[in-house]
Amino acid sequence: MRMSQLFLRTLRDDPADAEVPSHRLLVRAGYVRRAAPGIYSWLPLGLKVLDKVEAIVREEMDAIGAQEVRFPALLPREPYEATNRWTEYGPNLFRLKDRRGTDMLLGPTHEEMFALLVKDLYSSYKDLPLSLYQIQTKYRDEARPRAGILRGREFVMKDSYSFDVDDAGLEASYAAHRAAYVRIFDRLGLDYVVVHADSGAMGGSASEEFLAVAETGEDTFVRSPGGYAANVEAVTTVVPEPLPYDDVPPAHAERTPATPTIETLVDHLQEHFPRDDRPWQAADTLKNVLVVLRHPDGTREPLAVGVPGDREVDPKRLETQVAPAEVEPFGDDDFAAHPTLVKGYIGPGVLGTDSASGIRYLVDPRVVEGTRWVTGANEEGSHVIDLVAGRDFTADGTIEAAEVRAGDPAPDGSGPLELARGLEMGHIFQLGRKYAEALGLQVLDENGKLVTVTMGSYGVGVSRAVAAVIEGSHDELGLVWPRELAPYDVHLVAAGKDPAILPAAEQIAAELEGSGISVLLDDRPKVSPGVKFKDAELLGMPTIVVVGRGLADGVVEVKDRATGERRDVAVDALVGELR
Ligand code: ATP
Ligand code: MG
Ligand code: MG
Ligand code: MG
Repeated sequence: MRMSQLFLRTLRDDPADAEVPSHRLLVRAGYVRRAAPGIYSWLPLGLKVLDKVEAIVREEMDAIGAQEVRFPALLPREPYEATNRWTEYGPNLFRLKDRRGTDMLLGPTHEEMFALLVKDLYSSYKDLPLSLYQIQTKYRDEARPRAGILRGREFVMKDSYSFDVDDAGLEASYAAHRAAYVRIFDRLGLDYVVVHADSGAMGGSASEEFLAVAETGEDTFVRSPGGYAANVEAVTTVVPEPLPYDDVPPAHAERTPATPTIETLVDHLQEHFPRDDRPWQAADTLKNVLVVLRHPDGTREPLAVGVPGDREVDPKRLETQVAPAEVEPFGDDDFAAHPTLVKGYIGPGVLGTDSASGIRYLVDPRVVEGTRWVTGANEEGSHVIDLVAGRDFTADGTIEAAEVRAGDPAPDGSGPLELARGLEMGHIFQLGRKYAEALGLQVLDENGKLVTVTMGSYGVGVSRAVAAVIEGSHDELGLVWPRELAPYDVHLVAAGKDPAILPAAEQIAAELEGSGISVLLDDRPKVSPGVKFKDAELLGMPTIVVVGRGLADGVVEVKDRATGERRDVAVDALVGELR
């Protein structure tokens, strides 16, 4: 490609609204152009990079047997009504009406549409497992579209959905996607971590995020030297192994008086926990207070204390009253000694309402999966076990996680936590049967019985990846592309007035192209070498070749964009060197 023909204008100045390097550089280098807030046009160079990211994603999705499809972005309201997302999405959803006044939306994600398509065409367990994906434009009316294409209101996402008959199938589909994501983000050359994600209101099912490490990231995550990593929202809910709930002696339930005193608790805290180690968190979201104690040394048994009662207590008041004292493990003896304390809850968690009594509960998020029994405390102060979501209660909210601080112990005991920032590049999710149930996606199992399909959903921010790579790879001069993503392999600069230079550069370009090396040739006649060099640095191709004064001696200058290293190479040897 010749620069004289390329649809490109580079800018000397940063765009006024650009806060982060990728935004600044993509606009200055003429890769993208803003059409409206959070909405961008891709220009020739930018589109090439976007295509390359898409190609990597496509290859890795195909490699795990997922099949590509493409859904419309303009969608009917009904499916999103059935899952309540028409309401849940709130102002983030782009809504519109057709000429008949029918409600429509621009798809923010496509769980509903995929589930309905599979329901439409498949009916037997023999049809499953199935994974489908698309690389498609998504719409979200983000409150703060910032940072250019990092957070667009229109953006490109790869979204895939897996369909299985049983939990084991879902786990296998999830594992395949996870492995594909590792390969995708490795190939993109991103410095990333895989973190446990917020289990949120959907509750406890497995979910992980791929975060590119970047100071400009909006997500805060924690990691330990021992390899623990989590999104901060998830850090206190995620435990590496099931907690020893089975240890909870039911006798505690009987021993719990209806109205324990807060003084008893404070006494206990003063006795056992130093304030400086911040061993507990409190949540008074319920009418009663539930205080959660974690072992200060971070061992895997974060025991908990519930204080049922009808008094309103400000958690801050508790904090100020807990004086430093010697740390001791908090064990069964303590419960024996303090019969007013209930054991068995780790927070934060899910607020639920008992289906039968209407009593509100605070329960471990994992209960929302509907299979495991967990413990919780209710307003009556009894110790409740064997809760099953759906049967015993409905989840109706979450309690926020306590603030995590650098130096806090990792929940799995793998050392002190370090706080860092990241960009969410991918998100994989074991959805379970939530959407399939809402939309009636069932198949016949081996025994001819109708069973609800279990789903996974998996997203990659394709357009965001273009910017994320830049966040990790640029310098004060401009973009620095890894070879796999660069629009061209070589930026060839014809520099100088000597009439022999341009034909020589054209010849070299043809030879390089002939051996599979793509070339951007700066052949602009009236542009000074200085400006050409500046543009070459800004545009960021991995190798810059200058055809100039050295030509008389049969050499060209080869510069590595990333390292800045330059060397002269004989024209004859160039193809061999660069291949
Ligand atoms: P975020 O937390 O950044 O808002 P999200 O959790 O809302 O992202 P998901 O619904 O998990 O996003 O979508 C899957 C992927 O799509 C994300 O991991 C991210 O890479 C990408 N993505 C989401 N929102 C945007 C956006 N506004 N612009 C660009 N990419 C986005
Ligand atoms: Mg979002
Ligand atoms: Mg997110
Ligand atoms: Mg997400």
